[in-house]
Amino acid sequence: MSSETYEFQAEITQLMSLIINTVYSNKEIFLRELISNASDALDKIRYQALSDKSLLDSEPNLFIRITPKPEEHILEIRDSGIGMTKAELINNLGTIAKSGTKSFMEALTAGADVSMIGQFGVGFYSLFLVADKVQVISKSNDDDQYVWESNAGGSFTITKDETNEKIGRGSVLRLFLKSDQLEYLEEKKIKEVVKRHSEFVAYPIELMVTKEVEKEVKKEEEPKEENTEEKAEEDSDKPKIEEIEDEDDKKDGEEKTEKVKEIVQELEVLNKTKPLWTRSPSEVTQEEYNAFYKSISNDWEDPLAVKHFSVEGQLEFKAILFVPKRAPFDLFESKKKKNNIKLYVRRVFITDEAEDLIPEWLSFVTGVVDSEDLPLNLSREMLQQNKIMKVIKKNIVKKLIETFEEIAEDAEQFKIFYDNFSKSLKLGIHEDSQNRNTLAKLLRYQSSKSNGEVTSLPDYITGMKEHQKNIYYLTGESIKAVEKSPFLPALKAKGFEVLYLVDPIDEYAFSQLKEFDGKKLVDITKDFELEETEEEKKAKEEEAKKLEPLTNKLKEVLGEKVEKVVVSENLGESPAAIRTAQFGWSANMERIMKAQSLRDASMSSYMTSKKIFEINPKSAIIKELANKVAAGEDESKTVLDLTNLLFDTALLTSGFSLEEPSSFASRVNRLISLGLGVDEEEEEKVEEVKTDAPAEAEEDNEMEEVD
Ligand code: ADP
Ligand code: MG
Repeated sequence: MSSETYEFQAEITQLMSLIINTVYSNKEIFLRELISNASDALDKIRYQALSDKSLLDSEPNLFIRITPKPEEHILEIRDSGIGMTKAELINNLGTIAKSGTKSFMEALTAGADVSMIGQFGVGFYSLFLVADKVQVISKSNDDDQYVWESNAGGSFTITKDETNEKIGRGSVLRLFLKSDQLEYLEEKKIKEVVKRHSEFVAYPIELMVTKEVEKEVKKEEEPKEENTEEKAEEDSDKPKIEEIEDEDDKKDGEEKTEKVKEIVQELEVLNKTKPLWTRSPSEVTQEEYNAFYKSISNDWEDPLAVKHFSVEGQLEFKAILFVPKRAPFDLFESKKKKNNIKLYVRRVFITDEAEDLIPEWLSFVTGVVDSEDLPLNLSREMLQQNKIMKVIKKNIVKKLIETFEEIAEDAEQFKIFYDNFSKSLKLGIHEDSQNRNTLAKLLRYQSSKSNGEVTSLPDYITGMKEHQKNIYYLTGESIKAVEKSPFLPALKAKGFEVLYLVDPIDEYAFSQLKEFDGKKLVDITKDFELEETEEEKKAKEEEAKKLEPLTNKLKEVLGEKVEKVVVSENLGESPAAIRTAQFGWSANMERIMKAQSLRDASMSSYMTSKKIFEINPKSAIIKELANKVAAGEDESKTVLDLTNLLFDTALLTSGFSLEEPSSFASRVNRLISLGLGVDEEEEEKVEEVKTDAPAEAEEDNEMEEVD
């Protein structure tokens, strides 16, 4: 039979070579991966058959079967699933690039465990942990039987299969085991591995076992004849037990018999297939939940939390939901699968792609839902508008929030949860208006009073000052940056706590939340009214009047760059700061947006918020600047330079990025020259050369600044 040869996609070749050469000891996980693929393939055909029963005619039984062939060092794993056409064999097993291939190799380099392979969607290749050659014999209802073969080199072959036994439907993975991996041919070992990793697979996992039985045969009959019969049957799937019964029938009526020992093969089912969710939660052990979780999630670790519940009444369903310990590598990738919930209808698997079963922000949750009410022949399109689905979804969200609250009772557990899924929570706050407030209670932030620990909104409220009206927060790039913010001293002076929001998504979440427990959420980098006494107000007004010549001058120099210039009493050490208007982007948001849409300058200039330049009357710099202006030196280059410098540094300390870092640098350099007493003429020349530099160079500079 002529074979066709295909090149593997380059990264897959790398992956296979990595796997086949690894010294990794926990190789048994290959079996879990192959059984999981078999189970997926069975799910697919069972789902298709719901709308067309005849699809099962090619093989009515749904099973997974493991057959060791010790003489040949071969381990076969067969399923009667959907099978693969020739094109599917080529695409699915070798030529189509998957994002997980590279991610998995990177994860390995970073110290990840090989057993994580399934999570990256390349579990199939784990077979090269134990085999150095593999044949995938597959039969789809839509094509002939084909053999795909690879020895982990750069190419694979595909051949129309005219030599192997015909499979009605499904696939056989024939692994040619490495000489040091022959323990996977042993009954005991296989049983142990299946028990450990695949106990809750929903289809029977059969193992072809070899047994010695005693049986009565006619005296003087040549046992040899029987042996040949055995041989002929050896490749057949039929368990020998039937044959023995036949013999028994024949034996009837015979007079002289004797007992002989005989080797027979029979199938033994290794797993319990009764669905776990149909059992009462009080009867299920944590170990069983863990094993079940691993079997449906591809995860190698135990889950962080589990919720097993049933809803009864007008609508009935059972569910087991798991919160993993770790966010999947592609949690926020737009192309990835939208959910990890398997939907069953009266114990029949329907789909794991029902997008309306769980909101996107909860897509990290894994589990099963089994409905009593949905029709079996439900199409995916119908699922989308289904009212029952909507109610199920609502219940799932409610139960999961309950679960998160339970996790929050244990600080250590909650830290794991929060480190991995706080972004999802914040997304939930942004998207789920109904549960917004409940979810907000789960948020945790460092604050001006938390000493490096974290606090929650309810705790913040408990600690509020009597005359404090709002919940104050500060947005920025990092804790280090916000701790030094020029806006903090004003609130510290009043004894008000300020929450530090340093995750880009925080600001989205807080702007949707708007308030918590009746208290307004206020970003202190924006324009807002601080609780002030009459005296404080008066003092501020007086100060403002005194500095009017300076503020006017500053506005004149800065022009359109600022909306207005005002005097601010409490900027601490900072001579100046830049606040944004209440509506529109904060400094932090402007920085994030600019980093995201570098090329679309027009958009950002449109959205950029108005800036208020605040000066600190207590600062020596401001005092001296005011003196200079009062003395009529306001047209000197130094005053102009200083004003611009003051503005640029205020931009930086207030969390903005600079528009023109190079002119900022020039001004600083001039100051350095001044400090060092370098000849100004000389310096001017250097300056000119600099400004004549090609425009590109400047752009580069700007890019760096934004990054
Ligand atoms: P994943 O299971 O995450 O998709 P794998 O690397 O385990 O990734 O498998 C790759 C693909 O190969 C599967 O998505 C499926 O299309 C196909 N495949 C693997 N094993 C089987 C099988 N036993 N029957 C049918 N298709 C299979
Ligand atoms: Mg798989």
